[in-house]
Amino acid sequence: MTQQVLTILGSTGSIGESTLDVVSRHPEKFRIFALAGHKQVQKLAAQCERFNPQFAVVADAEHAAALEQLLESARCRTEVLYGAQALIDVASADEVGGVMAAIVGAAGLPSALAAAARGKTIYLANKETLVVSGALFMETARASGAKILPVDSEHNAIYQVLPQDYSGRLNAHGIESIILTASGGPFLDTDLAAFDRITPAQAVKHPNWAMGQKISVDSATMMNKGLELIEAHWLFNCPPEKLEVVVHPQSVIHSMVRYRDGSVLAQMGNPDMRTPIAYCLGLPERIESGAGALDFGALSALTFRKPDFARFPCLKLAYDAMHAGGGAPCVLNAANEEAVAAFLAGKIRFTDIARVVSHCLEQGFSDGLNDVGSLLAQDAQTRAQAQNGIAALAR
Ligand code: NAD
Ligand code: MG
Repeated sequence: MTQQVLTILGSTGSIGESTLDVVSRHPEKFRIFALAGHKQVQKLAAQCERFNPQFAVVADAEHAAALEQLLESARCRTEVLYGAQALIDVASADEVGGVMAAIVGAAGLPSALAAAARGKTIYLANKETLVVSGALFMETARASGAKILPVDSEHNAIYQVLPQDYSGRLNAHGIESIILTASGGPFLDTDLAAFDRITPAQAVKHPNWAMGQKISVDSATMMNKGLELIEAHWLFNCPPEKLEVVVHPQSVIHSMVRYRDGSVLAQMGNPDMRTPIAYCLGLPERIESGAGALDFGALSALTFRKPDFARFPCLKLAYDAMHAGGGAPCVLNAANEEAVAAFLAGKIRFTDIARVVSHCLEQGFSDGLNDVGSLLAQDAQTRAQAQNGIAALAR
């Protein structure tokens, strides 16, 4: 049996670590070509010792020197590379079959796009790539024959309950709509009057999922669900009006597809990202993930409610950006990344995140963003506008 050769971008993050956990359960199936861990050199060194990749990629020369020193004292022969081009190189190397795209934010775009251009199998966790460059990314993958497998739990669930021969045309398969479930995050029932005082520590404490800081804040504002709407729009060629969001606080149903005959198909499981990761890595086989079995006896109830835009204005902003199309989702994402970072740094309030995003969307955006250069230019311009908005709010 041939081994699948993998590059893991963002290996030191929450998704990266879960991926390596799944990989470690199947040493006969997978070999690691490269790991990319940005600035987390201690963690990356330990991963290199354990998985022996050919290459490890970090942010810059300084982190490369630190990693080299650690690897040398561990007698690990992994070669250290650094910088944005190195991410692209390890994502598109000939030896590589599959690329786990698990860098957080638009920083993951160029490497994911490079993997798409080279026809790799892409395990896509980095939803920001689709939000910023959905049309370009899907077209690049189509042209090269790259396969995109969604790691995000909702999209993975949808992928699992769509017809196997799904062609991208809802109607032809009798599909009425795609339903994304949302936990609602930690503030689903918090008194609205207290929203101004929400601290970063409270916002990153998700009731069901253990995740990186940025996506945890996105879950608390429900911007995460907004980004996922746009992600689903591109992945499944689903028009905005055929996308539903339902709040389901237990995070047991990971999403659903509604069919014309009245059937609704759901995928269920414990909230553990190793399940969708193992699904993607194992295809067409079902492989062991390490996730515990869903215990129905221990479930009290599965409940559902409508999302509340007054409580979660970021979700509304994302809906609007999806409908507007063009450069709007790119602006939405860049503004949100800056606002979340400023909130985590204690510069602005939780409720200011939506204000910053809305401020940037009001500045307008270009429409024909069909290449990576113009997308990144829009991204940079929005970040500057967001910083102005943040400075005004921080004063
Ligand atoms: P994380 O913060 O835990 O990890 C991010 C990874 O990216 C780390 O390895 C970090 O070193 C690296 N990184 C950070 N900035 C970078 C940069 N500028 N250049 C290169 N590398 C950089 O985040 P996470 O929770 O693992 O999320 C990763 C991606 O997966 C995000 O796009 C997130 O939305 C998506 N996702 C995560 C989950 C989850 O359960 N954690 C679920 C669904 C989707
Ligand atoms: Mg998700």
